[in-house]
Amino acid sequence: MALDSLECKPDLKNFNTEKTAFLKEFNVQYGYGGKIDQIREEEYPQLKGAVFLDHAATTTYAKSVLISFTTDLINNLYGNPHANSPSSQLCNQRLDKVRDRVLRHFNANPGDYQVIFTQNATAAIKLVGEMFPWTSDQSSYKYLRESHNSLIGLRRFAEEADAKLIKAITEDDFICLFENDPKTESIQCDNHYSTNALPRTSIQNNIIYNLFAYPAQCNFSGSRFPLNWIQKIKRFNKNNNSKTLVLLDAAAYVSSSLLSLSEVDTSPDFVTISFYKMFGFPTGLGALIVKNELEPILRKRYFGGGTLDSIVYDRPWQKFRKSLHERYEDGTVNFLDIIALDHAFDTSERLYNNFDLIKNHVTSLIIYLSRSMKSLRHYNGQPVCYIYSNRDFSNNTLQGPVFSFNAKRADGSWVGYLELERLASVNNIHIRTGRLCNPGSSARWTKLDSEDIIDSFYNGKTCHDDQDMWNGKPAGTIRISVGAMTTIDDILIWMNFFKKYYVEIAPSSVMNNSISFSQNLVLEKVTLFPIKSCHGFSISPSTSWPITSKGLMYDREWMLVDAGNGRALSQKRFPRMTLICPEIIRDKGLLAVSAPGKYHNKEPLYIDLNIYPNTVEFSTCSSQVCGDKIQTCVYTSSEINEWFSSFLNVSCRLARHASMKDNSLLQHRFIKSYFNVPDNMHLSLSNESPFLIISHSSVNYINKKIIEGGNQEVEPDCFRGNFLIKGTKEFEEDQWKFVKFDEQVFKIIGPCRRCNMTCINHKTAEVAKEPYSTLALCRQFNGKIHFGQHMIHVPELSEKPYLIKSNSLVQILTDRNLNKKLKKWTIWNWLWISLGIFLIYIFNKNIINKIYNYINYY
Ligand SMILES: *Cc1c(COP(=O)(O)O)cnc(C)c1O
Repeated sequence: MALDSLECKPDLKNFNTEKTAFLKEFNVQYGYGGKIDQIREEEYPQLKGAVFLDHAATTTYAKSVLISFTTDLINNLYGNPHANSPSSQLCNQRLDKVRDRVLRHFNANPGDYQVIFTQNATAAIKLVGEMFPWTSDQSSYKYLRESHNSLIGLRRFAEEADAKLIKAITEDDFICLFENDPKTESIQCDNHYSTNALPRTSIQNNIIYNLFAYPAQCNFSGSRFPLNWIQKIKRFNKNNNSKTLVLLDAAAYVSSSLLSLSEVDTSPDFVTISFYKMFGFPTGLGALIVKNELEPILRKRYFGGGTLDSIVYDRPWQKFRKSLHERYEDGTVNFLDIIALDHAFDTSERLYNNFDLIKNHVTSLIIYLSRSMKSLRHYNGQPVCYIYSNRDFSNNTLQGPVFSFNAKRADGSWVGYLELERLASVNNIHIRTGRLCNPGSSARWTKLDSEDIIDSFYNGKTCHDDQDMWNGKPAGTIRISVGAMTTIDDILIWMNFFKKYYVEIAPSSVMNNSISFSQNLVLEKVTLFPIKSCHGFSISPSTSWPITSKGLMYDREWMLVDAGNGRALSQKRFPRMTLICPEIIRDKGLLAVSAPGKYHNKEPLYIDLNIYPNTVEFSTCSSQVCGDKIQTCVYTSSEINEWFSSFLNVSCRLARHASMKDNSLLQHRFIKSYFNVPDNMHLSLSNESPFLIISHSSVNYINKKIIEGGNQEVEPDCFRGNFLIKGTKEFEEDQWKFVKFDEQVFKIIGPCRRCNMTCINHKTAEVAKEPYSTLALCRQFNGKIHFGQHMIHVPELSEKPYLIKSNSLVQILTDRNLNKKLKKWTIWNWLWISLGIFLIYIFNKNIINKIYNYINYY
């Protein structure tokens, strides 16, 4: 890999020493006899500059597959395989060949097994649930705790069939259930969560089928589970009227290991796989590999397409085809992608020879990665990584090429995995975080049990939100996974990244509290963002702008919502939003919206500030800090909505915050509770607070660091502050309590937490890695990245009218001069109150007496 093309450049000398040491240690297992760098260069141009470590989600495809596949399609005519024409026959021949090839890959005898093509592994699992010969009140479905959701979902079929027992079991349970002698021992340790306990005698003569399902490799932790479990389970099937069939979910396992089905008696009855996990391409293609001998007992339920030998339309009579794949592949199979699969096998064999070599290669990488990660310590000796697998990483029968973990800081607090993922993303490092569709492993490793999860759900947490902690514990994992074409360079770059940002080599310096504040500060620029997530609008130096408790007038009063689901659009997903420039023309009562000509050739849009659209709807704001449901007035004008939709290339509508229209009627948003502010302070559509203040010197400081790192400096605008101040010392604003300009006093309520949205260039909408990467290095406090300060307006200390102007002088109020101000306020107050009492006294002495008596009485 060309190192200089990478964003996250490691120290070259160190890098080379470590690489040499690795190559020396693993020269046999790693790299396909020295071919890896060439393979990577020629076959995977899409990986240039990227560090892709998410092979457990999907590996990536080789260039040759795409070329030979498209050449094949260009030169051959393939028809629908259900017909008789020469093109259909050609297609059929190819499909038969590929079925055979899949069986050969798994060492399966065509007499023993058949391949049923499905859409993915999940569809294959679902088909097992549908075809399984459940006996009501008798059958059981057991699945390993570490199962993917897709296996757990199968329990719905068991429920519908009134299965006697549905149960998730652990590895220890397995030993208890199946490791004893089948003859002597009835299953004692099976504490049933049975649905209906009473067996029916009428089916006594028939065999009762139970299903046991487990993953060969866990997609969450990479742990592998013994393949000899099948044999252990089968021992119980001898001379018994109850038999257990085994479903092996091999989706994760087969991407880097060979699974052999040659010994039919000790092999699983059902094997489910997805081909994109093996080859990266084709996608949308999986398979159920199923034992032929099960044909008589499997149930065909729904039917469609060519699965029938005969059928009448007006009576419940139909006859299904005999061979399993003909009977169970409803509709037309994905025939072109099945042909692509042939090319994928060819290319994989040509590049890597066989999956055993792939296994060796990935094992060497995962040994090195796990060892390096495990050895990391903070300056105080505390470990950094908490690893979510108890397996020996050098034993590839027990552990696949996956490293799952969470990280702690030197002070013992957890690193939020979303923040880590964001930082990795801006550095073009691709990893996966979360619960990974594996609730059992999640519960096991993060120690959030089912009660916690149910509780969190009723408190608004879902699998797809932006919360990475719950009850002080990580709500998921960080997963690094490697594949056939991963190189040691990828791993070293990851290590360099991780060490740079997450291993603390010294205590973080404590801020100097006795800082003296600068004088002669100037309010350089005042900016509002009329449409949330769009470009800012800076007021001209001569204009005074009104402020309200919710912020600058018209700030974040509009937003764009997805026309389909009502969710607020954000710049993170639609970087082009930053090119949309709203402007408030107050004297004409208009909101003008334009986009620079280079990007857009439409006329500006003019929207009347004084007219609210009538349609009131709920929209959700989907950013990390704000999951609120918000009542908005949605514009119905097609001219307006078309303008935004065509610019962003997504169907969207403009909406205006309804609370601005009618304070009493509509729901409010509130300043986030983690700020120390009086309860129930209202908010516009801004994320956290009404005002954000940024210091130019702090921006300069960050820019200095960015330039030292060899990257392009950023503009203050990327921090999206309302007030830009010049003349301060860097980060002095972190110590401020109150600021005052134009006779308006603002209280600082807390730092602004940053995300990678700062990386979107507000003039070009391009996404870079700065300033986020540098902020993460020098502005991290308790795992949160801070830049700028949030504020609220304090009307009690301000003078009317509440107006501000840019270029005004800014004063920092210390507690001392603030107290003076407060005293002034209190003296005036007392004066007024005394005057009031005096007047009442004069006009009605009686009232005074009554009050006096009342106070005495109590
Ligand atoms: C990926 C995966 C699945 C689901 O595969 P799909 O192709 O998305 O249906 C199921 N089980 C395991 C172990 C997996 O890794």
